[in-house]
Amino acid sequence: MLKVGVTGGMGSGKTTVCRIFEVLGIPVYYSDERSKALLNTDVSLIEQLRSRFGHDIYTRDGVIDRRKLGARVFADEAELNALNALVHPAVFKDFDNWALLQRAPYVLKEAAILFESGSYLDCDYTILVKAPAALRMERVMLRDGLTGELVQQRMDRQMSEEEKERMADLFINNDGKELLIPQVLRLHELFMKKAGFNG
Ligand code: ATP
Repeated sequence: MLKVGVTGGMGSGKTTVCRIFEVLGIPVYYSDERSKALLNTDVSLIEQLRSRFGHDIYTRDGVIDRRKLGARVFADEAELNALNALVHPAVFKDFDNWALLQRAPYVLKEAAILFESGSYLDCDYTILVKAPAALRMERVMLRDGLTGELVQQRMDRQMSEEEKERMADLFINNDGKELLIPQVLRLHELFMKKAGFNG
């Protein structure tokens, strides 16, 4: 199964691009959403998190207390790294299991931290969705009702666009001028060919 990673900075339009691929029948694994779910469903991950961060990060009902866990790792890089070292492999495994169940020429993995987490290594191709920083900021402010300052702080914590550009194989320009659908169709054609569907 051909695996394609899709990434991009905050507000670049990763999810929007993936929705277009979905219209073409291509299954998309949304890493952020799935990793949040795994914190409550992956028995092995839950055990590891409990023993590393304390049993009280789960409520009596067995639901993760994200606020408590967040407070524990927020200001401490070593703790955050420890959390990532447990969560990322669980997500990799979950993605591989999910991919095996899909009936499609190829699948997409949408991840904000595709490069940072190392998950790009498991992909045959990576796509970077690009948009100018000012436009990305405007979109996120509008979508999430956040101040420019807060969005800027979050953007500053992400890997630089230059570094992502160096690591990506393919690009989608979502600058609000170039149309998205023709760009997605071109890549779809490429992946269909690579997957052996020459149509
Ligand atoms: P994040 O990483 O913050 O979740 P993202 O990269 O997944 O963001 P989207 O959620 O797809 O980005 O897009 C951010 C916002 O910008 C959304 O509200 C989306 O509808 C809007 N948007 C994205 N692309 C375009 C476009 N080409 N034209 C108009 N609006 C767009």
